[in-house]
Parts: sequence; C-alpha cells; structure tokens
Amino acid sequence: MKKKQIAVFGSTGSIGKQTLQVIEANKDIYEAYTLTANKNWELLVEQARKFNPDNVVIADKALYGKVKEALADKPVKVYAGEDAIAQIAESTETDIAVIALVGFAGLRPTIHALQSGKTIALANKETLVVAGELVNRLVEKHKSPILPVDSEHSAIFQCIAGEGNNRIEKILLTASGGPFLHKSYEQLAKVTKDEALRHPNWKMGAKITIDSASMMNKGFEVIEAKWLFGVDLDKIEVVVHPQSIIHSMVQFADGAVKAQLGVPDMRIPIQYALSYPHRLQSDFERLDFFKCGSLTFEQPDMRRFRNLSFAFEASRKGGNMPCILNAANEVAVNAFLHDEIGFLQMSEVIETAMQTSPFIAAPTLEDFFDTDKETRLLTKELINKKN
Ligand code: NDP
Repeated sequence: MKKKQIAVFGSTGSIGKQTLQVIEANKDIYEAYTLTANKNWELLVEQARKFNPDNVVIADKALYGKVKEALADKPVKVYAGEDAIAQIAESTETDIAVIALVGFAGLRPTIHALQSGKTIALANKETLVVAGELVNRLVEKHKSPILPVDSEHSAIFQCIAGEGNNRIEKILLTASGGPFLHKSYEQLAKVTKDEALRHPNWKMGAKITIDSASMMNKGFEVIEAKWLFGVDLDKIEVVVHPQSIIHSMVQFADGAVKAQLGVPDMRIPIQYALSYPHRLQSDFERLDFFKCGSLTFEQPDMRRFRNLSFAFEASRKGGNMPCILNAANEVAVNAFLHDEIGFLQMSEVIETAMQTSPFIAAPTLEDFFDTDKETRLLTKELINKKN
C-alpha cells in the first residue's frame, strides 16, 4: 500500500514535532513529504536528514543558503519564503496537510491546500478565527475536509462520530483555566511572563501558552467550534475543568451528554486526524481513573478573563472583527513576551484595537490581509504610547 504523504507546516513547533513522532511511530503508513519552518533552520535540517522529505521550506528567505548548504548531499528540494509555503500546500503528492503554523501565518497555506482539494489536519485555530466563513465556503466548494487537531475540537468530533443528523443541543467546551484560574484581578496585574508560560497541564508553544493563561485561547476555540461544527455561539458553553481529562462534551436533543476523555497528550488528537476514521494502535499513556483523582467543573469568570468575552463579542459582530481581535492579540502577546506590557494590558490594547479599527461587514480575503496588517500597526502604536 502506498504510504500517505504528509505535509507538516510548522514542523519545528510543538505540534509539528509531535506530528513527526506520530509519523515515525507509524512509518509503514505515513511519510513526511514536506516540512516547513519559520527561522529554526537547524531543527528543520535535522528533521529533513531524519525524515527524508521531498521538500523543505524555510519562511525566512535570509536562511535559504544555510538550509540549502546543510542539505546539499540530500535529494531534498529546498525553497524559501511565505509564497513558497503557500505554493507547496498545493502539491499534488500531498495526501494530508497538517497546518501547525502559529498565528495568522496559517491562513494562506490553509487556503491554498483547500483550493487544491487536500485533506487538512488543522491545528492552527487562528485560521478559523480570522476567516471561518470564507474557509467553510472553500471546504464546501472543493470538498476538502478539515479534521480538527485541537484537543477540544477533536473531542467534539469524536463525540459526534456516528450521530448522523442528530441535532447538537449544546457543545460543552472544557477549559483548564490556565495557571491563573483563581487569581484575583489585582493579582493578575502583577503576574510575570515566566509564570504565564508555566501551563499546569499542557506543554505547548509560547504563544498558545500565553493565550491559555489569558483565556484568549478558549475564546478562539469557541469561534473555532462555531465554524467547524456549524453551531450557533449561544449553543457553545465554556466549562472550566482544571484537570484537562475531559477534552470536551456534546449534549444532544434527548439530554444525553457524550464526553471524550484521555491524558493530556496532543499526539492522540494528531494521530486521530491522520488516521480518521480509523484508530491506530499506540503506546501513549493510558488514563488511569484510580490515579487521576476528582474531576471538577466551574463557570469561567469573564470579568477577570476579559479576552473570553471579547472573543464572543467579535464573533457576534462578525465581518473582520475576529481578524482584528486576532491581530491585536498576536501583537499584544508578543509585547508581553518581550516585557513591553503587563498581563492585563494585553486585554486593554485588544479592546482599544477592536473599538478603533475600521469595521468591514463582508470582508474579502484581501480585506483580511489588509485588516491584519493595519491592526498590527495600530496595536503597536497603542503599545508604544503605553511605554
Ligand atoms: P509553536 O510556536 O511551537 O510552533 C509554530 C510553528 O510555526 C514553528 O514551526 C514555527 O517555525 C512556525 N512559524 C511561526 N511563524 C511562522 C511564519 N510567520 N511563517 C511560517 N512559519 C511560521 O506553536 P504550537 O505548535 O504550539 O502551535 C501551532 C498551532 O497549533 C497554533 O495555532 C496553536 O494555537 C495550535 N495548537 C497548539 C497546541 C499545542 O499543544 N501546542 C494545541 C492545540 C492547538 P520556527 O520554529 O522556525 O519558529
């Protein structure tokens, strides 16, 4: 049987590396066809030497020479630049495109992969946050399925498998609550970058770890769920569940609730997205109910975690507002990671960006790129004024 060709966009990141672990553990079924990175050329080269892909792409063009030289003895094709990443997403050889880039950068390759009819394993939630409606139109038009990688969405996907046309009454999207779940507003004002980077249950890239601490991640996931499962916002409820054992739940018309449980390990949803509708044998840790202790649940506090309410607000408003939210958040998180603003100031600049950026009710793809660019500039100015 021909092995499935996997293009891993963002192979040097947290999800990318775990995707390669899944490929390695199932090398009789999968083969890495394309690997991409932004700047981490050393790891990209190391991965290319190990997995022998047909192509590698480094987004930062200045690093092309280094990658090319380091792989001169290998038959791998080397490309550079964001255009090359988008173009390689159309490659006819690819069976599944794993979109594991972080941030707005995931949108273009996803669109190119969709337009060329690829199956997408989507980790990059920002794509659906920014342009969910447009992406869904492409899914419909090109019959390119999107399989969720995000653990909550994979859980929902697993809960609705086999349910046919049974109506979803409610999605119960679980949230760990992050490292600051029970901190007061005054305490949140003083938390540091290092504290925010220490997620209690998940080891992830820096940006999503900060988003988890600020609950923007959960807000993004609400929007992601809305587009992936075609459910109205008022049917999506965030349930804080600090143990991260239940990855999400679905309530049906008869009141029955289905949940998906497991240890927090992203390789499980990654592998399921690659193998769907089948399940592959794995040696991942098993959930031991006698060791995992109590499972607890609470309501999220949207007054302390304002980003969660911004996400609901942006999604209700629609148009380019979620794109504004995302761009402002990317800049704010970056500024927080560089000690330019405090934890709560992230929400302040996002709120101002949402209030002042020009609103477009029915944006085109080009409008999204313009909105992203303009909002980034505006947010940077807001941050500079604060300093
Ligand atoms: P990381 O920061 O660990 O990795 C990001 C990857 O994207 C790296 O390969 C990076 O390259 C590449 N990249 C960054 N910027 C660009 C750019 N401008 N152009 C091209 N490539 C770029 O992120 P994660 O793996 O944590 O997250 C990836 C996505 O998956 C995010 O959207 C996140 O929300 C989502 N996700 C992550 C989860 C997790 O457990 N980590 C769980 C669920 C969803 P380089 O290494 O060179 O910088």
